[in-house]
Amino acid sequence: MPIRAPRAFFLRVLCVLGGFLFLAGCQQQPAEYRTQFLALGTLVEVQIAGLPRARAEQAAEAVRRDMQAFTARWRPAGDSELARINAALAAGETVTLDPEGARMLREARRLSRLSGGRFNPAIYRLIRLWGFDSGEPAGPPPAPADIAERVAARPSMDDLRLQGLRLGTRNPAVQLDFGASAKGVAVDRAIRILRGQGVENAIVNAGGDLRAIGRFIGPAGTRDWRIGIRHPRRHGDVLASVEIAGDLAVFTSGDYERYYEYQGRRYHHILDPATGYPARGLSSVTVLHRDAVLADAASTALFVAGPDDWPAVARAMGLQQVMVVRTDGGVALTPAMLERLSFPEEPGPTLEVITP
Ligand code: ADP
Ligand code: MG
Repeated sequence: MPIRAPRAFFLRVLCVLGGFLFLAGCQQQPAEYRTQFLALGTLVEVQIAGLPRARAEQAAEAVRRDMQAFTARWRPAGDSELARINAALAAGETVTLDPEGARMLREARRLSRLSGGRFNPAIYRLIRLWGFDSGEPAGPPPAPADIAERVAARPSMDDLRLQGLRLGTRNPAVQLDFGASAKGVAVDRAIRILRGQGVENAIVNAGGDLRAIGRFIGPAGTRDWRIGIRHPRRHGDVLASVEIAGDLAVFTSGDYERYYEYQGRRYHHILDPATGYPARGLSSVTVLHRDAVLADAASTALFVAGPDDWPAVARAMGLQQVMVVRTDGGVALTPAMLERLSFPEEPGPTLEVITP
C-alpha cells in the first residue's frame, strides 16, 4: 500500500501530463486554417497551413485589417486617398503622396510603359463613363462621342510628374484607377505580413487571383498547393490546374467577371485605352509570376493586347508563363506554362503552344 499510492499518483500525473502533451501535439499538427472576408471589391480567402490555430487566426486577422484599410485608401470613389489625388490632378494642382502611394505609382508607371500603354491606370474617366467603377455595372454603353472624347485626351502615366513625393500632371484628363494592379499590391503586402508573423505555408486569394507560398500541410501529410484556373465560359468549371511549392502568384483577367449584356452583346470591364471599348478577342488571360503586381498588371495588359499581340507584350514584360483563352474557345500558351499546367478533362482543349 505505501508503495502503490505514490505509484497510482505518479501514474495519474503521467496521464494528465500525457493528455496535455497529446493536446499540445494536436496543436503542433493543426488542420489548415481558412478565413474569408470582403476587401478589394471581392471575396478574399486566406488559407494557412502548419501553424497552431490561434497563431494562424492572428496572422489572418492582420491581413484582413491591412487589406480593408488598403481598399479604403486606394478605391477611386468616395473620400479615399486616391479620390483626393484625382481631384487635385483634375484641378491642375500638385499633391503630396505618402511613400506607399509614390512606390505604387512608380511601379504602375513602369509596368504601363513596358506594356506599351495597354495597362494604363490613367484611364479612370473612361472606366467611370462605362460604369465599371460601380458595384453593379449596367448598360446601355456610353455614347460613341463621349468615348471618343475620353480617348482623344490621351491620358497616360507618362503625363505624370512625380518629384519625390510631389505629384502633378500636365494632362488634366489623367485620372487614376489602380483596379488592374491593386490586387497584386495587396496580395504582396499580405504575404509580407504573413511571413512577418512566422507563416511559411499559405495562400492569399483575392477573388481567384492569388499568391501561394510554401506547401499544403494536411492530416495526410505535406503536398504542393493545388490551384484551379477557372473556365471562362463554363461557370464553376476548372479549365486547368497548377501545383505550387515555394512562391508563385497566379493572376487571371477575364471578360466574365464584371460585365453586362446589352442588345445581345457583352460589354466587360477591361478597356482598350486605344479604342475606348472593351478589349476584344480573348476571354481570359492567366499569368504566373513570383511578383504579384507584375502578374496582375500583365494579365490585364495581355488581355488588351488580344490574340495576335499578346506574345510580343509578354516578351516586353518579361513573362514566361502565360495562357490565353480566345473568345472562339481556342487555348494558347507558352512552353513554360504548358509544362506547369494539367488539364483535368479528357480530352482536354486543343492547345496551341506559342513562344513569346
Ligand atoms: P480583375 O479586377 O477582374 O482581376 P483586372 O486585373 O484585369 O481584372 O482589372 C480590371 C480593372 O482595371 C477594371 O475594373 C478597371 O477598373 C481597370 N481597367 C480596365 N481596363 C484597364 C486598362 N486597360 N488598364 C488599366 N486598368 C484598367
Ligand atoms: Mg490585372
